[in-house]
Amino acid sequence: MKILLLGCGTSTGVPMVGCKCKICTSTNIKNQRTRSSLLVEYNQKNILVDTSPDLRSQALANKIERIDAVLFTHTHADHIHGIDELRSFNFIQLSEIPCYGSEETINQIRQIFSYIFNDNFIGGGKPILKMHIVSSKFNLYGLDIVPIKILHGNQTIFAYKFGNVAYLSDCSGIPEDSKPLLKDLKLLILDALRYQFHPTHFNLEGALKVVEELKPQRAIFTHMGHQLDYEEVNRELPEGTELAHDGMVVEI
Ligand SMILES: [Zn+2]
Ligand SMILES: [Zn+2]
Ligand SMILES: [Zn+2]
Repeated sequence: MKILLLGCGTSTGVPMVGCKCKICTSTNIKNQRTRSSLLVEYNQKNILVDTSPDLRSQALANKIERIDAVLFTHTHADHIHGIDELRSFNFIQLSEIPCYGSEETINQIRQIFSYIFNDNFIGGGKPILKMHIVSSKFNLYGLDIVPIKILHGNQTIFAYKFGNVAYLSDCSGIPEDSKPLLKDLKLLILDALRYQFHPTHFNLEGALKVVEELKPQRAIFTHMGHQLDYEEVNRELPEGTELAHDGMVVEI
């Protein structure tokens, strides 16, 4: 299995438009973060997690030529607003793309992007998607996928586990019921927005506490804002933990 971090930025992306801070003006390419999204390659199939507003540039940068399924974590704009970019893959693959998410997420996507699901809306081209509601373990192309309920502020959203890799893109808390599903991980990819507290995301300190509790073999932090300098923070992080960068690849 190959894990490709397409984007590891928070909702504004880094650099943030108009910002002249040290990170936003950094010349280190690893401080440039597109909106959070993940690609899982397994059995020559590409499973995408979320359709970020940067999906087009992420696909071009990483030479992604097909998308065999999409998993949605939740419906915040930074995770779904690239959904229309799936059209390009429909054109190439000549088939519909199966999409998965919680009942709430799938219903909200149908509402927010009603043109996609409206048979009377013709012309302009629209993505051809087949929506599936999931609530427990399912299998895609031979890979077991487990949706896991996590807290994102006062919202309950999905994280996903692929074999022994878990991806918690937007997270401020893990319900006790979900913790057993996050034991014995080879890799934990976890939200760590910034240094300061935030009501809907773990800060670095909170993310490190989760790592201490769950004890994955390796942890990578994602969904970062413009407060965290890639080199500076990585120098100080404990062994087995590190910041992500766009285009980061992990073979499991
Ligand atoms: Zn987000
Ligand atoms: Zn900035
Ligand atoms: Zn969110």
